[in-house]
Amino acid sequence: MPELPEVETIKNELLPHIVGHPVTGVTLFWEGIVRQPSVEEFRSHLVGQRITGIARRGKYLIFSLTSRETLVIHLRMTGSLLLKPTPAEPERFIRAILHLDNDTQLHFRDPRKFGAMWLAKDESKIMPKLGPEPLEASFTPQILQKLLENRTAPIKALLLDQSFIAGLGNMYADEALFASRIHPLRQGGSLSPGEVKRLHSAIQKVLWSAISNKGASVDTYFRPDGELGTAHFQFQVAHRLGGDLCPVCGTPIQRIPVRNRGTYFCPKCQPAQRTKTKGI
Ligand SMILES: [Zn+2]
Repeated sequence: MPELPEVETIKNELLPHIVGHPVTGVTLFWEGIVRQPSVEEFRSHLVGQRITGIARRGKYLIFSLTSRETLVIHLRMTGSLLLKPTPAEPERFIRAILHLDNDTQLHFRDPRKFGAMWLAKDESKIMPKLGPEPLEASFTPQILQKLLENRTAPIKALLLDQSFIAGLGNMYADEALFASRIHPLRQGGSLSPGEVKRLHSAIQKVLWSAISNKGASVDTYFRPDGELGTAHFQFQVAHRLGGDLCPVCGTPIQRIPVRNRGTYFCPKCQPAQRTKTKGI
């Protein structure tokens, strides 16, 4: 599933090809990908509008248009946005094509059909309440500490909750917990100030590292040019299969369900009890 680094990479790599160009046509191979408004309105409102910018909020892509409406895209489980020169034959799993005036097409590929597009005057009406952006300067260890106060849910579940913090998914939550040596089942509110600091810095570190490696292509994620990301080669525990050893201590990595999400961790580096950090 594309998470913050994958969506950020897609945004960065689409920007130079898309911004400033009008949409000249919309082809839908699966109309269900348009959630709002009707398919007819979606097409008539979009065609003729120039794309003036692309932003990311959590795992959402937000395309601003000259009409002051915004096109919101969520890739969900298996979506990719691919840039193709015109004319391009749609490959398998292409659900929608946006045609641009620069002999470029934007193909929405989505094998499992969970992806979605919305067109709206106010994107905040489309997107659910999202937590802070973990890479923004305003997201400080103090903010994370405050968010965690009195929370009894497992820290792994909180990190996946988009209203708690935006953009993290299964892969980077596991990586951040491993890097901060925190057991995924620890209650959020039980983390010591030292652990919160470690977790805050680990979240930012794993996300920046994944962005610099253009995202992780563990299953169906492609960059807009069809190339793969390489962030998964940096993974320490995420998606490690049975028998893989912790790169730090050599203990076999374990996989447990946390709220039904397969969670990878090292039982030695991430003990179930609070770790004492000297001086904190
Ligand atoms: Zn270990």
